Amino acid sequence: MSEARTVVVTGGNRGIGLATAKLFVDLGHRVAITARDPGHIDDRILAVSCDQTDSKAVDVAFEEIESNLGAVEVLVANAGITRDQLVLRMSDDDFSAVIETNLTGSYRMARRAARPMLRARWGRLIFVSSVVGLLGSAGQVNYSASKAGLIGMARSMARELGSRNITANILSPGPVETEMFAALTQEQQTTITEQVPLNRVAQPEEIAETIAFLASDSAAYITGAVIPIDGGLGMGH
Ligand code: NDP
Repeated sequence: MSEARTVVVTGGNRGIGLATAKLFVDLGHRVAITARDPGHIDDRILAVSCDQTDSKAVDVAFEEIESNLGAVEVLVANAGITRDQLVLRMSDDDFSAVIETNLTGSYRMARRAARPMLRARWGRLIFVSSVVGLLGSAGQVNYSASKAGLIGMARSMARELGSRNITANILSPGPVETEMFAALTQEQQTTITEQVPLNRVAQPEEIAETIAFLASDSAAYITGAVIPIDGGLGMGH
C-alpha cells in the first residue's frame, strides 16, 4: 500500500464521493468528507459541513480537517449539482449556480488544499468532471460548461504546481448509478444507457477505484490527464 495520507472528498456523503471515501478508509488513509449537510456516515470518516460556494466556509472546513487529521495531501473535488434546462429557457441563476458549485467551488477547495501541499512538496488534486464536459449534452449547457472548465483549470494547476510534486488530474465518468442519475426520467436513463458501448451504467465503486489509483504512488508520473470511465461513451476523448 502507498503511505497513509490525509484525504478530503468533497460531496462525500453519498454517491461517487461516499464510495470514494469508504475505499480510501479501507486502504488505511485518514479521510474527511465535506457536504452542505453531511450527516453521520461512518465512524471512521470525519464528516465536515462545508458549502463550497462560500470561501469562508471552505477556510473553516479546512481548519477543522487539519486540526483533526493533519495537513490535506489528497483532494478529491467531487461535489457537483445539475440544473438541467434547454438553453433558451435556462435562467442566469440556473447557469451561475451550477458554475458556482461545480467549477468555482472546486477551485476554492483546490486553492486552499494546495497551500499545505506546496509546503510538503507532495500533493494530489483529483477533479471529477464528466463525459459531457467534452461531449456536450442537450439540456446541460450549464453543467457541461462547468465540467469542461474543470479540465482547463486542472491542467493549469498541473503546470503551475508540478515542480513541487503536486499532480492534478481529471476523471471523466459516464453515467453512474447515484441519486444524480436517478433524478433523470426513466426514458432519459434508458436513452443514455443505450448509447454506452458497454450497455450499462457504472457503479460508484468503479469510479472510486480509479480515484484511489490516481492518489497512489503508482500514479506519480500522471498529471494533467483526463481519464475516461464511461463504458466507451466518449471513446477516450
Ligand atoms: P450526488 O448528487 O449523489 O452527490 C452530490 C454531492 O455533492 C453530495 O454529497 C452533495 O452534498 C454535494 N454538494 C452539492 N452541492 C454542494 C455544495 N455547494 N457544497 C458542498 N457539497 C455540495 O452526485 P454523484 O455522486 O452522482 O456525482 C458526484 C460527482 O460526479 C459530481 O460532480 C457529478 O457531476 C459527477 N458525475 C456524476 C455522474 C453520474 O451519472 N452520477 C456522471 C458524471 C459525473 P449536499 O447536498 O449535502 O451538499
